[in-house]
Amino acid sequence: MQVLNFIAGAWQPAGAGAGFEVRNPADETLVAEVPDSTAVDARWAADAAHAAFPAWKARTARERAQVLKRWLALIESHSEELAQLISREQGKPLAEARGEVAYAAGYVEWYAEEAVRASGEIIQPPVNSKRLMVLKEPVGVVAVITPWNFPAAMIARKIAPALAAGCTVVAKPAEDTPLTSLALVKLAEEAGLPAGVLNIVTCSRGHVADVVGVWLADARVRKISFTGSTAVGKLLARDSAATLKKLSLELGGNAPFIVFEDADIAAAVEGLMAAKFRNGGQTCVSPNRVYVHDAVHDRFVDKLAARVGALKVGPASQPDSQIGPMINARAVEKIERHVADALARGARAVTGGRRLEGNYYAPTVLTGATRDMQLSCEETFGPVVPVFRFGDEAEVLQLANDTPFGLAGYFYSNDVRRIWRVASALETGIVGINEGAVAAPSAPFGGVKESGYGREGSHWGLDEYMHTKYLCQGNLG
Ligand code: NAP
Repeated sequence: MQVLNFIAGAWQPAGAGAGFEVRNPADETLVAEVPDSTAVDARWAADAAHAAFPAWKARTARERAQVLKRWLALIESHSEELAQLISREQGKPLAEARGEVAYAAGYVEWYAEEAVRASGEIIQPPVNSKRLMVLKEPVGVVAVITPWNFPAAMIARKIAPALAAGCTVVAKPAEDTPLTSLALVKLAEEAGLPAGVLNIVTCSRGHVADVVGVWLADARVRKISFTGSTAVGKLLARDSAATLKKLSLELGGNAPFIVFEDADIAAAVEGLMAAKFRNGGQTCVSPNRVYVHDAVHDRFVDKLAARVGALKVGPASQPDSQIGPMINARAVEKIERHVADALARGARAVTGGRRLEGNYYAPTVLTGATRDMQLSCEETFGPVVPVFRFGDEAEVLQLANDTPFGLAGYFYSNDVRRIWRVASALETGIVGINEGAVAAPSAPFGGVKESGYGREGSHWGLDEYMHTKYLCQGNLG
C-alpha cells in the first residue's frame, strides 16, 4: 500500500517529516500512517504541476486518452484490492465498495473517450475576409479537494476530466480516507503518467487550511474542483477571489423525496431504500426529507419500516452487512442530535432511533417530521428517514423547495402531466423520477442554489477544465 505523498513523480514523506493515522471506522484499528503535509509540500506540488503543464498540454488528445485507458485497465485489474481498501478506511460494505470502484472506473473510461472529442468550432464570419474560430484549451493547474464518503469516485471524477483536458493536478484527499486516493495515483504512475502531471499530498484536519491556502493564493493554480460541505465551499469561493480562479463546487444537499398518492408504492419504497441507505446514508444525494401523501402515508410507512428494520448492520468484514459504521464519532453525534431534536419536537421512531456500539447507528424511520426540526434544514448524513405528511402538490413543492440547497430531488408518480410539472418545479440540479439511483458517468452531476455550481460527468464535466479561446483571422482578401 502506498503511504507517501506523490510529488514531481516521486513518492516522499512530508517535508516536516510528520504523519497522521488512518483508522478503520468499524473498530478503530490502525490501517496506515500517511504524511501530515504542510504549506511546503503544497507549494512543491504546485511547482511540479506548473512545470509539467506545457508538455502535458502539448500531447495530442489521443495520447492523453491512451494514458487514461492504461489507468482504467490497471484500476480494473486491481479492483478487488481497491474495494477492500475503501471498506477498510471508509467502512462501507464490500459489495458497495466494489460498486464504487466500478463507478470510479466508469468516469476514467468516459473521459478517456471524451478527451478526443473536445473540439472547437468554426463560426460564420460577419464579412468574407475574416475567419472566426473557437478553440478549447486546458485551464492549467487544477487543485482537487475531495471528501471521505466516496474515496475512489470523488477523486476519479475530477482527475480523469482534468487529465483528459490537458490540465495538471495537485490533489488533497480527505483526512479520514487518503489511502484509496494514494492507491489510485500509484496506478496512474504505473500507467505512464509523466512526472508532475498528477501530484497528491495528504494532511490532517489541523493542516488543511495551510495546504489548501497555498493553492488558493497561488496565481498559477487556475482552477479549484471541490466536493464537500457548503461551508467549506463558500470559504474556497471567497479565498480564491483574489486570483479569480475557475471553480467547480459540488456541495451539500438536502434532497426531498416525494411520494404522491398516484405512485407505485412498492417501487417508491425500493427507490427510497436504494437512494437513502447507500453508504449508510452518507451520500450527498441521499433523500433527507421524505414527503408522503396523506392517502398513502400509512401503507408506505408500514412497508418502509419492514424493509428498514431488516437491514443488517455490521462491519465490511461480515459479508452480509448492508449498513457499515458511520465515518467517525462526530458523524454519529450529529445523527444523535438530529434524532433527539426530532423526538423532542413530536416525531415518533417507528424503527431504530438509537445509537449502537462504536460508530454504528440503527437504521431509523421517524414519522411526524415537521419543518421546524433540525433534520428538515440540514443534511443528517446517516441512516435516518424522516417522513413528513402532505396534502396536495402545491404544498409539497413549496416544502421541497424551502431550503437553501438544491442538489438532488426525487418523486414518485404515475400521472404524466404531474411528472412534467413537478420535474420542472423542483429547484435541484438532479431529479429522479420514479427512480432512486440517478448517477452515471455520462450524466451531468451537480447542484443549484447553495449546493454549488459546475457539473461532473458527461461532456459538460470536461468543459469545466477548459477555456474557450476565440481566434479571429482577418485580411483574407
Ligand atoms: P468538508 O468538511 O467540506 O470536507 C471536504 C474536503 O475539504 C476534505 O478534503 C476536507 O479536509 C477539506 N477541508 C475541510 N476544511 C477545509 C478548509 N478550511 N479549507 C480547505 N479545505 C478544507 O466535507 P465532508 O464533511 O468531509 O463531506 C461531506 C459533505 O460533502 C456533505 O455536505 C456532502 O453533501 C458533500 N458532498 C457533496 C457531493 C456532491 O457531488 N455535491 C458529493 C459528496 C459529498 P479534511 O478531511 O481534512 O477535513
